[in-house]
Amino acid sequence: MRILAVGSHPDDIELGCGASLLRHVEAGDEVTMLVMTPGGLGPQGLTSRVREQEDAAALIGARLIWGHFEDGSIPHGREAVAIIDRVVREVGADVLYSHAPNDTHQDHVATSKAALAAGRRLERVLFYQSPSTTSFDPSVFVDVEISLSGKLAALRAHWSQVMQCEMVDLEAVEVTARYWGTRAKVCYAEAFESPRFVWDIGARAATMAPALSSIRQDESAVLSAVQQ
Ligand SMILES: [Zn+2]
Repeated sequence: MRILAVGSHPDDIELGCGASLLRHVEAGDEVTMLVMTPGGLGPQGLTSRVREQEDAAALIGARLIWGHFEDGSIPHGREAVAIIDRVVREVGADVLYSHAPNDTHQDHVATSKAALAAGRRLERVLFYQSPSTTSFDPSVFVDVEISLSGKLAALRAHWSQVMQCEMVDLEAVEVTARYWGTRAKVCYAEAFESPRFVWDIGARAATMAPALSSIRQDESAVLSAVQQ
C-alpha cells in the first residue's frame, strides 16, 4: 500500500500517527509525509525545525515533502486542497492520514478540511489527534506496542520542541497510547476518527486461504484414515 500522512507543522504527523507509520514501513508499505509549513512560528528558528523534520522522517523510513505555506497561514479552501491533491496523485496514495477537524489551531483545522477534500476518492481516510484537539471520538485503532519506542525516537529528533521547551511531552504521548490501548483492548494504540474506511475483507480471506486449504487436507487425511 501507499500511505500519505499530512500535517501542518513539523512533529504533528509523528505525534498523531508516527507509530502507525512505522508499522506501515515494517509491513513494506511506501510512506510519504507532507508537512504543509516549516513551523517558523515555533520557539526555534526555521532551519532547525526543517532539519529536525528531515531527521524524523528518516528515522521513520518515510519520504518527506514540504508544502509551501507559512506557519499560521494555511488557507482554507482551494489552494491547500490543491497541494494535497497533487501529492495524493503523485504518490498514488491508498490511505490518507491527517489532523482531526476539531482543533484550536487554525492550521490544523485548515489542513484537516483540505485533506478530507483531497482524499475524496480514497477508500481509507483517517484523522489523528493533536495536543490541541478539542473533541475526538475515534473508532479505528492501530496496535502500536512494537512501534511506540520508534515513535518516541522520531519525536526526540524534534529536539527544539521536546528537549528544549517541552512543547512535546513524551510522557503524555506514552500515557495517551496506553489509554487508547485500553479502549482498543491491546496494550498501546494510536486512535483515529474516520470519515471513510473500507474494510477489504477479500484481501484478508486471500491471506487466510493457504491455512484453510491445509486444514481441509488434514480433514481429508483424517477422513481417509477413518474409512480404512
Ligand atoms: Zn501543529
